[in-house]
Amino acid sequence: KPRILTFGEPLVAMVPDAPGVVSPMHQFRPYPVGAELNTAVGLARLGLHPVVACCVGADPFGSLIRSAARSEGIDISEVQVSTAGSTAVMFKQRSGLQMNTSVYYYRSASPMAMGEWNPEAVQERIVTDNFDWVHATGITWMISNQCRNVATDLFRIAHQRGVPVSFDINVRLKLAAAEGWRQLIQEVLPFVTWLFIGDEEADLLFATTHAREIEAECLNHGFNGVGVVVKRGDKGATVSTGGTEITVSARRVAAVVDTVGAGDGFNAGFIAGLLRDGSVDEALSLGTIVGAYAVTSIGDYHGYPTWTEALQELRGIQGVPR
Ligand code: ATP
Repeated sequence: KPRILTFGEPLVAMVPDAPGVVSPMHQFRPYPVGAELNTAVGLARLGLHPVVACCVGADPFGSLIRSAARSEGIDISEVQVSTAGSTAVMFKQRSGLQMNTSVYYYRSASPMAMGEWNPEAVQERIVTDNFDWVHATGITWMISNQCRNVATDLFRIAHQRGVPVSFDINVRLKLAAAEGWRQLIQEVLPFVTWLFIGDEEADLLFATTHAREIEAECLNHGFNGVGVVVKRGDKGATVSTGGTEITVSARRVAAVVDTVGAGDGFNAGFIAGLLRDGSVDEALSLGTIVGAYAVTSIGDYHGYPTWTEALQELRGIQGVPR
């Protein structure tokens, strides 16, 4: 099975049972989330071997994350447990006429467990274990200087070892302003094989949503990877590789329940598509399939498909009605 290293801060999302302003709610359900954890779940369901590297607190939320990850088939041998910091938590709110989702983070308050993350062992594993892929999102670089240095080092080592590296910028303006995210792209681009970016993020950081233009701009800033993927929500996604664009429309879904996690699922589908020797077209299609499954259910990753389901969708096979 192809082995993928992904690193980043997992969180517990407290999701209220009812829509409306979150503070006076009586009942919440805890969901393990976090961009890289979501992608790891997607990869595990698609039959690959994801290894998650991070640090959680020695608290009930940290236990929840570890047991959920393990039960999804994720390798948690690189999940550190810190007694010095807390597991990050966030609260989700669905409110307003459009039932928009807002999130309130309790992640950068000090001391957080991820600030204690010290993955020397992970660096060694990149060198010795021959991972088939390394994936991360920009959030990790914005958590602390320590995380930033460690994350850049992991990318550099992977790149030096010839391991493909994917990077989803995953802009969170609550963590840094646009200029900070622009600088981050420039910092990591030399090590990146595939850049994932949402169309709104592209507009913010590159002043264009055209994949080919973004790829050209990246090439001017030290990119020597394979391509750029622009994700466009319910309009699908576009790849630019070597100046050639490929676009796939989004899959139709009967009802959109919660769009958070679609982008992380897309990444899992895309990576799995390439690692299972698919073409870029197939990877793109698998990405949109996992993204579409994601929006059909609450919780970031709960809706992600298995490999069999994704393959049926890819080949256009109808499920057997009972
Ligand atoms: P986020 O960070 O919020 O997950 P993103 O920009 O990384 O967002 P999106 O573009 O929102 O990612 O979604 C990724 C993919 O999931 C899209 O390219 C699309 O294929 C699929 N997708 C997203 N929303 C829908 C939808 N409403 N219906 C069908 N497919 C969707």
